[in-house]
Amino acid sequence: SLKINDLCVNCDVCEPACPNQAISMGPEIYIIDPARCTECVGHFDEPQCVMVCPVECIDPDPDVVETQEQLLSKLERLREQG
Ligand code: SF4
Ligand code: SF4
Repeated sequence: SLKINDLCVNCDVCEPACPNQAISMGPEIYIIDPARCTECVGHFDEPQCVMVCPVECIDPDPDVVETQEQLLSKLERLREQG
């Protein structure tokens, strides 16, 4: 999963760019739900939120490191949930 750090300026451009609806407004800044973020694997070659973020405040989450295989499995689960 990726993670939004506190440089986020709440511009909201990342939320609609996410193919997995993983991004939402949190208590202070935007947040990524690690249960829904596939790092865009299965959708795009590059993480879309990182591409659109104007302040480069989205980084890999050091607490949720996943392999390509795990990210694809997550995508499968999301698709099953509909
Ligand atoms: Fe959504 Fe992709 Fe960003 Fe993860 S990396 S939050 S799936 S846009
Ligand atoms: Fe925050 Fe970047 Fe998303 Fe804008 S695009 S809300 S600055 S994480």
